[in-house]
Amino acid sequence: TIDPDQLGSSDTLQLTREQTHYLQRVLRLKSGDLFIAQDGAGHQWRSQLMEVSGQAKILSDLAPKPPPASLELVAALPKAGFDDVVRQATELGVTAIYPILSTRTLLKPSPKKIMRWQRIAQEASEQCERGHVPQIFAPESFEHWINNVPNNSGNFFCVARVNAPTLLTRVQSLLVDSPQQSLRVVVGPEGGWTNREITVAIAHGYQQTSLGSGILRATTASLTALAIVSSAREQ
Ligand code: SAM
Repeated sequence: TIDPDQLGSSDTLQLTREQTHYLQRVLRLKSGDLFIAQDGAGHQWRSQLMEVSGQAKILSDLAPKPPPASLELVAALPKAGFDDVVRQATELGVTAIYPILSTRTLLKPSPKKIMRWQRIAQEASEQCERGHVPQIFAPESFEHWINNVPNNSGNFFCVARVNAPTLLTRVQSLLVDSPQQSLRVVVGPEGGWTNREITVAIAHGYQQTSLGSGILRATTASLTALAIVSSAREQ
């Protein structure tokens, strides 16, 4: 994934040290070999590694990838395992991730972590050729998030042990009339949501929803919710 300022004159591409390392050492490409460069916002170029180290030549533009329908994950930060959530959520087609500090969240991440998640999302989108890199927002409190991020009709608040329709049922019925509907799934921390958080979410128009009768770990619940939504969208 390249920044616009890496595009030099006469269709050359100045690669960073990490990109050169990835192409030459991880993918084992040699001078003259072809690869696809992307800008993370849908543009892609057929490119060729040049003999001069750290440089590539753009051969042609590829058809831009259309932006995917919005699918957001709002997840209370778990104690561990969020790197994997970011990677796998990207593979499952997430377009934005909001890490949330809820009442029962035990962790406050360092700014370094946020940069790490952005890098993981970028690498995962390259690996699965998505063309669009999901946006990872800085962690914020539950209150700040719910009062500042506007909702739409496709907002699902996952609650364990709830007597409510499953996410699959809710999403399928919504997509019948509006297949490109923006969707957002919200998942709690290890200790679950407080009653107050559930009440506030409902007051903001979020629909309580179940992921089935089992109690899933927070990280599993995030990925299950995204897998359900992505597969419902493919039908
Ligand atoms: N002790 C917590 C409770 O009983 O609420 C369990 C929390 S669970 C480990 C972590 C989060 O995953 C929950 O807050 C919820 O968002 C989601 N989750 C786990 N299993 C779920 C299920 N069967 N249905 C809906 N959400 C689920």
